[in-house]
Amino acid sequence: MNDKEFALFIENEKLQQAVESIANQMNEDLADKNPLFIVVLNGAFIFAADLIRRFQHDCETSFVKLSSYQGTKTTHTVRELIGLDEDVNGRTIVLVEDIIDTGITMDNTIRQMKNMGAAEVKVATLLFKPQAFQKDFEISYKGMDIPNDFIVGYGLDYDGQGRHLPHIYKITE
Ligand code: 5GP
Ligand code: MG
Repeated sequence: MNDKEFALFIENEKLQQAVESIANQMNEDLADKNPLFIVVLNGAFIFAADLIRRFQHDCETSFVKLSSYQGTKTTHTVRELIGLDEDVNGRTIVLVEDIIDTGITMDNTIRQMKNMGAAEVKVATLLFKPQAFQKDFEISYKGMDIPNDFIVGYGLDYDGQGRHLPHIYKITE
C-alpha cells in the first residue's frame, strides 16, 4: 500500500468475536443508561457500526472528528475537525475508538466531555497498544492488546488508504 508493505495480522472473524464480547458487556452495564455513543472519526466508523448494531437498549449515537496521526506517526497534538452538537450534560457518554495508542486523543476528549457536564464518561476501544500508552484513564471496554506496530484495515488507514479492508494488516516495512 503506497510505499509500505503490510502482512495479515487479525482476521475479521477474530475482530467480530472481540466486538461481540464488548457488546455483551455493554448490554449488561448500560441497559438502563440510555448512553450517548460518541464515535471518534474517522478510524472508528467500521468498529462502531458493528458494535452499536449489537446494542439492544435505548441509546443515541453521534460523532466527533479528531486527528492526531500523519502517515504512520502520531503528532502528539489533537486537532478537532468536526465538533459535537449534542448536549452531553448529565449523560452517560461512551467514547468509541478504533485504537488507543499514546492515549493523548482519548485523554483530551474525556476531559472535554467532563467539562461539558457529562455524568460519566466510559471508553470503548477495539485495540490497545499497552507499550505506547502514556496516560492513566480507565478503559471500560477493550477488544484486544496489540504490539506497538502500525496497522491498517477495518476502518484504520495509512494516509487515507485501506479503511475498507475487512481484516487488519500490520506493517512489515
Ligand atoms: P493516540 O492519541 O492514542 O496516540 O492515538 C489515537 C489515534 O491514532 C487512533 O484513534 C488512530 O486514529 C491513530 N492510530 C494509532 N495507532 C494507529 C495505527 O497503528 N494505525 C492507524 N492507522 N492509526 C493509528
Ligand atoms: Mg481513531
